Amino acid sequence: MKIRNKLTLLFTAMIAALMIAFALFVYYTYDQYRKDEYYRRIHQQAITKANLLFDTKVDSSTLQVIYKSSNDVLFQDEMAIYDTDFNLIYHDAAEIDKVKETRSMIDEILKKKEIMFEANNLQIVGFLYTHGGKNYIITAAAKDKPGLAKLANLRFTLITALISAIVIIFIAGRFFSKQALQPVSNLVDNVNEITVTNLDLRVNEGNGKDEIAELAVTFNQMLNRLERSFNAQKDFVSNISHELRTPLAAMIGELDLAAAKDRSEEEYKHVINLLRNDAQKLVRLINGLLNLAKANYDEINITLRDVRLDEILLDARHDIITSNKDYKINLSFEKEIENDDFISIHGNEYLLKVAFMNLMENGCKFSGDKSCNVIINYYKDKTVVRISDNGIGIAEEDISKIFTPFYRGKNKKYAEGYGIGMSLCNRIIHLHKGEIYVSSEVNKGTTFTIELPHV
Ligand code: ADP
Repeated sequence: MKIRNKLTLLFTAMIAALMIAFALFVYYTYDQYRKDEYYRRIHQQAITKANLLFDTKVDSSTLQVIYKSSNDVLFQDEMAIYDTDFNLIYHDAAEIDKVKETRSMIDEILKKKEIMFEANNLQIVGFLYTHGGKNYIITAAAKDKPGLAKLANLRFTLITALISAIVIIFIAGRFFSKQALQPVSNLVDNVNEITVTNLDLRVNEGNGKDEIAELAVTFNQMLNRLERSFNAQKDFVSNISHELRTPLAAMIGELDLAAAKDRSEEEYKHVINLLRNDAQKLVRLINGLLNLAKANYDEINITLRDVRLDEILLDARHDIITSNKDYKINLSFEKEIENDDFISIHGNEYLLKVAFMNLMENGCKFSGDKSCNVIINYYKDKTVVRISDNGIGIAEEDISKIFTPFYRGKNKKYAEGYGIGMSLCNRIIHLHKGEIYVSSEVNKGTTFTIELPHV
């Protein structure tokens, strides 16, 4: 059920319940008042008749004729007088006998002095009447025809008013809930207009104050993030295409050149070597991209276990110097290891090795002596690895950008690369809840400091 309908029904049900309770209260209060009034009236009329009979000595038969000659006998007050021994003294119409007195009724009246009750749609009173020092029991009964008619009229008025009010409230409720939820409908329309092709569109933030505006602002903030990441993905894909096209174009060029005319065996060998180099570069690039994709997974998808950083660093160093015979990497500890836990962290061995290999490789490739120093230090809460070189350094304006995917600094001509390594390192270190800092001075050298928490 739509919120609009739910709100309308809830609102209508609430008001209807209140109105019904109010109407019932009015109805029953009025009915009680009418009954009390009528009992008083019957009582009073019975006394008047009794006085007529006893004081002015009006003849019984005269009173009976008056009673019977009225238009609607049933609704006349019918009175009877008994003595305390239940002997009938007077009866308006014994043959009708609305009250049907009994001995026990007489006894009860004697005891309580007055009783009132309803029977067969009649209101009946019985009370003790004293005249000339003698006690009598008077009973009188009648139907409150005009009072009941008024009550019926009140009932009809209340029911009609109630039904009309509920219908009006329902219509008004629908109108107001529509008004209240209009901003939500507008928001839905706005959101429906946003697709991949117009991610720059934003939803209307309304008055900027209420909850709906808050929702719109939050939604716009989410769109900003989405747009940024979508653009980053687009850039990433176009960068990859560009990076893959360059070596492939070079390979095609070399092949075309070789195929243009007959070549000597030496020349063919030369071309094959060139092609092999280009193919190797492609493999390196693709491996880098695969690692970047891996590191971009969520932490939950990456298996973590307790690993020793010194072992990973040794492994990384070994792999680098095996494939680059001219590279030199010096690994040392700043202070003695007292406990294995100090250089252990909870991490992914493969990714950490990739990160350290990139840092060591950069240190070597961007320095004239092709060497770098790796120093391991530890604290209570973290292990710190410092990788430094005495190479060409990074230009100041490049320092903040080197962690951007595919960014290569001004010094890029000095060494080959694709601008993937540093962004990959950054991602891997942050994935391990660590920090990476860089300090560099042109022509003096560069130091990367990596802090990794033990857990
Ligand atoms: P690549 O090395 O393939 O260019 P990276 O992502 O590894 O890409 O590095 C990005 C840039 O950061 C490099 O192009 C270079 O300008 C700079 N850089 C990284 N490490 C060093 C370093 N040790 N010495 C000098 N410059 C560095």
